[in-house]
Amino acid sequence: MMHIILFSLILISGTILLIIAVFAFRRKNVKSVRIFSLLMLAMVIHSYGYAFELLSQTLSGMYFWIRIEYIGISFYPFLIMLFSREYVDEKKIASKPVLGILFATGIMTFLLVQTNQYHNLFYSRIGVDSSYGFNVLVFKRGLWYTVQGVTLYVSLLYSIAVYIHKIAITKGSVRKRAVVMLVGAIIPVVTALLYILELLPKHIDTSPFSYLLMSLVAMRGLYRYSLLFLGGVTHEMILNAIEEAVFVVDRDGYIININSTSKRYFDPLCRLSYGDELSKYPFLLSLSTEKHIQDFEVEARHYQLKIIPFGKDYGEIFVFSDITETIQAKRKLEILATTDSLTGLFNRRFFIKAFSNIAKDGVFMLLDIDYFKKINDNHGHVEGDRVLSQLGELLKQHFPEGVHCRYGGEEFASFFEGVSLEIIYQQAEEFRYIIETINDRIMYTVSIGIVPIIINDFRQTIILADRCLYQAKERGRNQVCIT
Ligand code: GH3
Ligand code: MG
Ligand code: MG
Repeated sequence: MMHIILFSLILISGTILLIIAVFAFRRKNVKSVRIFSLLMLAMVIHSYGYAFELLSQTLSGMYFWIRIEYIGISFYPFLIMLFSREYVDEKKIASKPVLGILFATGIMTFLLVQTNQYHNLFYSRIGVDSSYGFNVLVFKRGLWYTVQGVTLYVSLLYSIAVYIHKIAITKGSVRKRAVVMLVGAIIPVVTALLYILELLPKHIDTSPFSYLLMSLVAMRGLYRYSLLFLGGVTHEMILNAIEEAVFVVDRDGYIININSTSKRYFDPLCRLSYGDELSKYPFLLSLSTEKHIQDFEVEARHYQLKIIPFGKDYGEIFVFSDITETIQAKRKLEILATTDSLTGLFNRRFFIKAFSNIAKDGVFMLLDIDYFKKINDNHGHVEGDRVLSQLGELLKQHFPEGVHCRYGGEEFASFFEGVSLEIIYQQAEEFRYIIETINDRIMYTVSIGIVPIIINDFRQTIILADRCLYQAKERGRNQVCIT
């Protein structure tokens, strides 16, 4: 009768565990929860197997169920280590080789349990104890039983150690969560201790009950203290799907959530992980103390950071957007809007705007190609265009301190701030000579008018310059005229 009650209790606790495991596995977007649900599944197999082991009263029947139980039990050390690794993001001790060894040990355990009758490496002797009024299996430990036991307790102690470390280095909700995980991990250790101290019935496996307790505690830890996780699956999915790098910092400056997009952003952002303290990264801290929206540049890429406070003084959400493309497009538009495409000089509109910003006295220069119509007529428009573009280039080269524009078809305007009329006249004369003697298949000359700038009056300035240029044309072209 007693074993029927025990069977039912274990079956019930195993079923609750199964429901939690399935529920957790469906939230597969959170890696550590998914691994934890696998661990729970192993516990479910163990629990169910054990329930039926109790029910079957023959030695061969019981051993059949033990074989089933070890489908789960064999992989406890591996899954515990893997879960701790994902949960605290610790990969030095819980490295891939260590996990590989634990997995191989699990396979070995499983195989040795299946074939024990040939080598007795797992159980050196198996018998039946009827002292409870029903049959339970009793055994003497074999060599590999000890190996399996040691790996299990080493991985449990490892997970306890990493949770304690996590508690020591964190604050706030991250810490609370680690405390809950620690309690969860300690439960099976305490159960084993009670068993060793003979405070629990001998030959009866009480671990299925401790599994249920442990899983309830751990699931509470995984869900309750993960702020964005509370809202369900979609929040986490959205967070990871968006283009922006997002992380959430609690009021103590610890990262309590970070999306996977962050890993694709700039250093040090891509190095951040859950539980990190923001003050470890002075660059991010310097950003956070400033405005709520700010632009900055890292290695030739442009980013925008928005800091959104949430809750009542609870913490802040950092949202980083890569705005490089937008900035580049904006710059392209600016260039298009301000320059003349043929010569690369400023266009007339931008030039007039720039002129209005002049503060100091200076010189204004108007230049026109002589008989340009003939160039077009004799050599074609394409050649004419080439001459215009060449002249623009030469202007920039010869007067590097000037602001130049293509003012009209074959007419160029320039201004020079804080220079004397004489200096520009000198340079213009040299320029006129350079053009006259240019070694090109098209020979041409230019006429130039030079006047002092009338500050704040573009119209008056250009009228004067135009008059001056007209004089140069009148006097026979290929000359510089000054007023
Ligand atoms: P002047 O010595 O009196 O300045 O004589 P000009 O022939 O240079 O003067 P005019 O103003 O009569 O002719 C200017 C010519 O410039 C007319 C037009 O066909 C040509 N032109 C204007 N814009 C462009 C252009 O973008 N490309 C080319 N190839 N020609 C242009
Ligand atoms: Mg002309
Ligand atoms: Mg002209």
